Amino acid sequence: MLKPEIIHRLQEIVGKDDVLSAREDLATYSYDGTTNWTGTPEVVVLPRTTEQISEIMKLATRHHIAVTPRGAGTNISGGSVPTRGGIVLCTVKMNRVLDINKTNLTAMVEPGVVLQDFNNMLAKENLFYPPDPQSFLGCTMGGTIAENSGGPLCVKYGVTKHYVLGLEVVLPSGYVMKVGGSTVKNRTGYDLVPLFTGSEGTLGVITRITLRLIPRPAARRTLMAIFDDMTLAGAVVSSILGAGIVPAKIEFVDNFVIRRIEEKMKIGLPVDAKTMLLIDVDGSEAAVESEAERILELLKEGGARIARRAKDETEAALYWKARSAGFAAIYSAARTVIAEDVTVPRDRLSEYIQRLDEISRKSGFPIVLIGHAGDGNIHPSVSTDSTDKEDLERLEDTLTAIFEMALELGGTLSGEHGIGLEKKRLLSRALDPMAIDAMRKIKAIFDPDNIMNPDKIWENA
Ligand SMILES: Cc1cc2nc3c(=O)[nH]c(=O)nc-3n(C[C@H](O)[C@H](O)[C@H](O)COP(=O)(O)OP(=O)(O)OC[C@H]3O[C@@H](n4cnc5c(N)ncnc54)[C@H](O)[C@@H]3O)c2cc1C
Repeated sequence: MLKPEIIHRLQEIVGKDDVLSAREDLATYSYDGTTNWTGTPEVVVLPRTTEQISEIMKLATRHHIAVTPRGAGTNISGGSVPTRGGIVLCTVKMNRVLDINKTNLTAMVEPGVVLQDFNNMLAKENLFYPPDPQSFLGCTMGGTIAENSGGPLCVKYGVTKHYVLGLEVVLPSGYVMKVGGSTVKNRTGYDLVPLFTGSEGTLGVITRITLRLIPRPAARRTLMAIFDDMTLAGAVVSSILGAGIVPAKIEFVDNFVIRRIEEKMKIGLPVDAKTMLLIDVDGSEAAVESEAERILELLKEGGARIARRAKDETEAALYWKARSAGFAAIYSAARTVIAEDVTVPRDRLSEYIQRLDEISRKSGFPIVLIGHAGDGNIHPSVSTDSTDKEDLERLEDTLTAIFEMALELGGTLSGEHGIGLEKKRLLSRALDPMAIDAMRKIKAIFDPDNIMNPDKIWENA
């Protein structure tokens, strides 16, 4: 338990109303988007300014208290679970969009801004910020930066780090450090912006973010294709890219998810389909039209039973709503769900899907597939019951088999969800030992007392 004088000092820093220590409040902050990790904080603070965060960090360092930064808690790697109790530092009350600069094509936001609110503001200005994790209705900008989140649009537009120009970060010592700026080019020394982007709250608290924006594409078409064979759907992704077309999105949804969504939403999805591919093309009207035509040809040549355009914006929106409900559909179907995040080269997708099927049959676990086919990042989700110990051991073996298979195909351990608690047992097999050593040394430079989101990323961290 934290001493009463620490709680008192926190109340002095942020005000009584923004310090939570009642049991039911602490329980609310004891988990995140994962189903198998929990840890109860000793106190939750909801600061509103950088200065307050600096004071909190000074206090935590002085008393050696673990600090877990938190946005909306939607991550699915255990990143915002306070494994050592201590302070949960939740940045949701720092939720101002400070600037949208239409002539420099940049924006400056606080970390607690919800991604969808930001998108709505940009749409009014005809501007566009592409990274689109499918938790966009709730996730915060700080969380997306700390996770270097991806999403469907990353096929064409890249991931979060490609849009972060500058950051203000409060270090564990309380020092407020600024890295990067608001220029689209910046070659001034080592680039620390991408280091903090994706650092999973282990190096400092992100308090201000400068982002690059782009103009909203003039036109967009949504295409839908149905396949009776999942591997054919995988192969067609490579054919589209091989034809020199980079769609904005290529998403993969398997039969389980189609049926679950249809059960809940009744939007007329074909429940007998083995796979549905959802594809968006965007750009100028003429380019979009010719790309859509060519993709429809490729889908049919590649074995699609149905390949067609969404008939209007309403139908397109329904498809994408169904897609974004995908994880909820999976997570609500079992007590324990592990949404794996391995990523493979895009020309190995078909083999990847086939090998997942083999792993599923061998392990006895159904493996559900949903995700970003255009990035080689289709999430295999494995469901079980965390109260059954035998099942859990088998689950670990199955996840290891999935990871080893992805590595054999030239893939990687995490495409977008991060390592957190969920994947750290496999990190040493995914990275060069020298790279791990360098990362740990970087961590020690910024966080010598290891109070900043400890236990994440590395074993024995
Ligand atoms: C339904 C669903 C769909 C999803 N789809 C996608 C997807 O398509 N692509 C994808 O990449 N992810 C996806 N995710 C994962 C998740 O939503 C993202 O990682 C999201 O960006 C996390 O934002 P958050 O505000 O919830 O952060 P949290 O979960 O609260 O925190 C995430 C990490 O960031 C750290 N952190 C939070 N705020 C700060 C800060 N201010 N400074 C420093 N560190 C901080 C935390 O310590 C933690 O390690 C999905 C999750 C769900 C539940």
